[in-house]
Amino acid sequence: MKTAVFCDFDGTITRRDVGYSIFHHFSGGKNDDLLPDWKAGRMTTRTCLTLEAGMVKASAEEIYRFIDQFELDEGFVEFVSLCEKNTAPVFVASDGLDFYIKYILGKYNLDHLELKTNVGRPENGGLTVEFPYQNVSCRHCGVCKGERIQQFRESAEGKYRVVFVGDGYSDACATREADLIFAKKDLERYCLANDIAYVKYNSFHDVSRILVEQGYLSR
Ligand SMILES: [Mg+2]
Ligand SMILES: [Zn+2]
Repeated sequence: MKTAVFCDFDGTITRRDVGYSIFHHFSGGKNDDLLPDWKAGRMTTRTCLTLEAGMVKASAEEIYRFIDQFELDEGFVEFVSLCEKNTAPVFVASDGLDFYIKYILGKYNLDHLELKTNVGRPENGGLTVEFPYQNVSCRHCGVCKGERIQQFRESAEGKYRVVFVGDGYSDACATREADLIFAKKDLERYCLANDIAYVKYNSFHDVSRILVEQGYLSR
């Protein structure tokens, strides 16, 4: 059986949440008022992202200069090499925005990774967002990670064990579809509250080590 990996981006591939930080910094903190409703499921991700993007007042140059400070998890580059050695596909599944994901991955020569995410453009002194993914049944997510995993399984030739690595509430739907879940922070709280089995991790060094120990990948 082959292994495929879906990774959340913000707070998982990067140590800090880039999307949140952009919205927070360039809205003067106003975006925080929206988050309790989003976390409680009373506001959809699309509505939340659209409202947050509308609060951003900054030039493209200012936004790119701001995102230069964000770093990847210290074990992620090595993790991708390990997966490539095993011909295990790695997908970046994010309910954030493509422009900063591409920019940051590019700095680490990882822009070949396939992204499943929303579209964002810094333009005209602000930020616009679009949602190219149509979800079939999920009414909450922008990009539903559960549906993306399901779609991958349907289109993939051969059988895959799907591993998911995440840290937040936007990863909730993925927990219903993945075979093995790595969770920390809000995603760990979600798994505990909903009786979902997960493996606790801190960095991608842990993910690599555990996947080798459990026979998903080999060194
Ligand atoms: Mg996250
Ligand atoms: Zn969903």
